[in-house]
Amino acid sequence: MAAKLIDGKAVSQKIKMQVKTRVEKLAQQGIVPGLAVVLVGEDSASLTYVKNKKKTCEALGMRSDLHQFPDTLTEQELLAKIDELNSDPGIHGILVQLPLPQQIDEFKVITAISPEKDVDGFHPISVGNMMIGKDAFLPCTPHGIMELLAHYGIDPAGKHAVVIGRSNIVGKPIGQLLLQKDATVTYCHSKTKDLANFTAQADILIAAIGRAKFIDRTFIKPGAVIIDVGMNRDENGKLCGDVDFEDVQETASFVTPVPGGVGPMTIAMLMENTLESAEKGLAKTKQA
Ligand code: NAP
Repeated sequence: MAAKLIDGKAVSQKIKMQVKTRVEKLAQQGIVPGLAVVLVGEDSASLTYVKNKKKTCEALGMRSDLHQFPDTLTEQELLAKIDELNSDPGIHGILVQLPLPQQIDEFKVITAISPEKDVDGFHPISVGNMMIGKDAFLPCTPHGIMELLAHYGIDPAGKHAVVIGRSNIVGKPIGQLLLQKDATVTYCHSKTKDLANFTAQADILIAAIGRAKFIDRTFIKPGAVIIDVGMNRDENGKLCGDVDFEDVQETASFVTPVPGGVGPMTIAMLMENTLESAEKGLAKTKQA
């Protein structure tokens, strides 16, 4: 029997419609959620991501400002821009598109963003709060994965979740969020010996590697839920994930496609975080 498709496009659409309704409610109180996106350089993939974010914001009735700079921008100049955005009351979320050019220290930039506007969830304060289960903006891709699991009634409690990848933006946080939902979590990475030995024990397998079609049926346990985070190009230049989607069909119980799985969820969660930031701002104003 073929695995059930986890349709990130459909679920993200539903979330975006909920966001739009909440944006309309806020508008009645004179607030328009605003996202500032900062792009340094001309990286074509980054430009595409940034344009998609802007388009989605606008479709949901949110404000989106793109601040684009040449790759010669200095660290001081970027930090000054962030300062300005931190104190702009019309901006509720700040996103600096990564990667940044060599001369700019990524960590300095991330930590310069006010945690109250850190809709990417990358600031160490956001990460720390997430780790201890306190209120924080959750990083968008892991948050999107958790929403997908919930939508399809996949409860991580008591399951063995194996995460391949340990990046700060995907691997590490998704493991933490699964742990908070009572999964038993194993992290694997490029130095893991006998990867298949671990993945074959996974009830939920998260592939966040960045290698085209790396995971095939030989890596997975029958009935496993497979979440494919990867965004790669195959030998024909076609977008594909870390998982060989066709090959795992008969073995997996659920699988996310690429495109149309985790990707659209990431953007929907960014919209939700920006809206929440605006809602929190309004609640504070009312309290004051
Ligand atoms: P990353 O920072 O490059 O991390 C990749 C991870 O995979 C590293 O931890 C690395 O291990 C591990 N790895 C590499 N080769 C491996 C191997 N042969 N066996 C086991 N582990 C291996 O990448 P990332 O930012 O987490 O992104 C991962 C993928 O997700 C990329 O394709 C990216 O484009 C995609 N992505 C998609 C979205 C979305 O919205 N859909 C969002 C973010 C990222 P080491 O730590 O030992 O090097």
